[in-house]
Amino acid sequence: MKPVVDEELCIGCGNCMEICPAVFQVVDGKSKVIDPDACDYAMCCEAAEENCPVKAISIAK
Ligand code: SF4
Repeated sequence: MKPVVDEELCIGCGNCMEICPAVFQVVDGKSKVIDPDACDYAMCCEAAEENCPVKAISIAK
């Protein structure tokens, strides 16, 4: 899976980083995908996708 953050939508709330810190890091108020492959093991990106308040996270499978 390849998580993608739409930076136009992201409000920097930090939910995704809290759920899945190996994949997401919030820098300057926007979430960045720092290691998309970290998700292949834990499926945490799906939880991050569901818990993003502005639906900025999508996952390419
Ligand atoms: S959960 Fe969504 S809005 Fe919040 S930091 Fe992550 S991508 Fe941005």
